[in-house]
Amino acid sequence: MRSGIKIIAGPCSAESRQQVLDTAKALAGLGVDVFRAGVWKPRTRPGMFEGVGAKGLQWLEDVRKETGMKVCCEVATPEHLNQALDSGIDMLWVGARTTADPFAVQALADEIKRTSRGSMEDLVVMVKNPINPDVELWAGAVERFKNAGVKDIWLVHRGFSSYDTGIYRNLPLWHIPIEMKRRFPEIPLFCDPSHMGGKQPLIAPISQQALDLMYDGLMIECHCNPDQALSDKTQQVTPLQLEKILNQLQIRENVQDQQSLESFRSRIDSLDESLFRILSERMEVSRRIGQYKQQRNMPVLQSKRYSEIVENRSDLAESIGLDREFAKSLMEIIHKESVKVQLDQRNSKD
Ligand code: PEP
Ligand code: MN
Repeated sequence: MRSGIKIIAGPCSAESRQQVLDTAKALAGLGVDVFRAGVWKPRTRPGMFEGVGAKGLQWLEDVRKETGMKVCCEVATPEHLNQALDSGIDMLWVGARTTADPFAVQALADEIKRTSRGSMEDLVVMVKNPINPDVELWAGAVERFKNAGVKDIWLVHRGFSSYDTGIYRNLPLWHIPIEMKRRFPEIPLFCDPSHMGGKQPLIAPISQQALDLMYDGLMIECHCNPDQALSDKTQQVTPLQLEKILNQLQIRENVQDQQSLESFRSRIDSLDESLFRILSERMEVSRRIGQYKQQRNMPVLQSKRYSEIVENRSDLAESIGLDREFAKSLMEIIHKESVKVQLDQRNSKD
């Protein structure tokens, strides 16, 4: 693994002083940068293990003193925040359920501002994505912490809840963190493959995908004895397993063979230009069809024709090696724009 990729690792939950320190000492030996452990656990169903509470903060402080690693835990309320920072925690993370609630995020941001914690030299606030796939909510949480004066914010992509998640526990929906990176290029982006995959065999492939997308680091749940873990046992790895995973990850260097990359890129640029020219020509034809329909008092939307187009284009796309679903979504967007062009023209004439 290339240095420069930051690794945050540690158990889902702090369970006992022994479990926390045993795990932390093994992780410090692997060069892990930041030790994580939840002391207040947001559990979906009541009756599940909800964390040891504030007494776990002392164990994290012991980790810091004994290993030199930075330590972090999740906070969801102003009370958590003050207790965690008073006990010497270096970094905080805001969990997926909290990010989804603007009231809760604002309460945390207000408390940071009220106590002037934002100006603390190296306070890092990590913002996990909201459980629902809403880029605005995630961006809104970042803005609330920025406005409160927090200088060092990191994003953690842990996937999104869905009724149908396929092989994942939470759907990756990579385009959402990529959009966040576009909006906040200066903010480091981390992937949490543990909550995304929900199972140990998915940790390595998801981590690799994140590194291929130039993420800045990984947050991985790691427990000295995952079988006995009180929360998220199927997705936690031992420090030894983590070492193997980290050793097998490939770092794609951004610099190699820039010349052929440049030539591919200029080909892409010119293909995009052709695409847009063709689309503009298609809209022009659409406008003329609109005039024709208007002169004959015909409706703009002709759903039989639309269904035929979508079906026919999906067949065509598939026959030339494109994905059927992709072609279908593309046709839906193009058709929506054509209808809009025809309606705009009709309204402007009325
Ligand atoms: C966690 O990191 O332990 C956690 C509860 O994460 P999330 O908010 O992503 O579910
Ligand atoms: Mn967990």
